[in-house]
Amino acid sequence: MVTSRYDRQLKIEQIGPRGQKKFGESSVLVIGVGGLGSFVASELVKAGIGTITLVDFDKVELTNLHRQNLYTESDVNEGLEKLTAMKNHLQAANSNVKIIVKSQKYSSDLITDKYNLVIDCTDNFPIKYQINQDCFDHNMPHIFATCAGNQGQVMFMKSQKDACLECLYPHQNIAKLGLSANIGTNPMIVAITGSLEASMALKFLTRPETVKPGNLMVIDNWNFDFRKIHVKKQANCPICGGNN
Ligand SMILES: [Zn+2]
Repeated sequence: MVTSRYDRQLKIEQIGPRGQKKFGESSVLVIGVGGLGSFVASELVKAGIGTITLVDFDKVELTNLHRQNLYTESDVNEGLEKLTAMKNHLQAANSNVKIIVKSQKYSSDLITDKYNLVIDCTDNFPIKYQINQDCFDHNMPHIFATCAGNQGQVMFMKSQKDACLECLYPHQNIAKLGLSANIGTNPMIVAITGSLEASMALKFLTRPETVKPGNLMVIDNWNFDFRKIHVKKQANCPICGGNN
C-alpha cells in the first residue's frame, strides 16, 4: 500500500481529506521570494497547494543565504535569478504542484480574480500599500507581513469589510517602520513570520469561514513576546473607509 505524502496532515482534524482537496484546487499568488517568500512558498508547495504563482526580479546573493531558507551557495555562484532557483528547489520538493513564475517588478495587473489568495512577502512599503489598494479594489483576500530586526507582524485582510493596511499604518508614517537592509534581520523572525503567513493561508484555503480578519500578530523573537491586537477599520481610511 502506498502511503500518501500528505498522511500526517490528513490526520489533522481541521484539514483532513476535505481540506487536502481544497488545497489541490487552490491558486495562490506569492509576491516576493526573499526571506518571507521562501518560507511561504516552501510550506504551501509541500502542503500540496494546486497552483502557486511567484513574482520576483532579484538574483540570489550571498547576503540572502542566512535567512532565505531554500537558496544555496551554488545558486549564488551560478548567478541564478531567485525565481529560477526557487522553482528548482520547490519542484524537487513536490513535483505535483504547478509553479508559475513571473520575473518582474510588482504591477497592479498581477491581481486578478483567478487567485484565491494573495500573500505579500515583499520588503518594500510603497509596494505593500499598492498591493493593499489593488486587493481592496478586487475584494481579494490578502495577507500582509513585514519583519526586520527581531520583530515581525502579520495581518489577514479577508474582504473590503475589514480593516486594511492603511487603517493599521497610515502611509505617511511608513518612514518610522524599520527595513531589513537598514537594521538587519534575525533569520528566526523571518522563519516565524513566514510560517504565520503560511499558517493563515492554509487555514483560509481550508475553512475560510473560520478565519477572523482584523487581527494583527506582533512577534518579538528576542524577548519571546507574542501579541494579537485587534485593528479597527477606520471610517476615514482613504482606501477602505466609509466614503469609498
Ligand atoms: Zn483601511
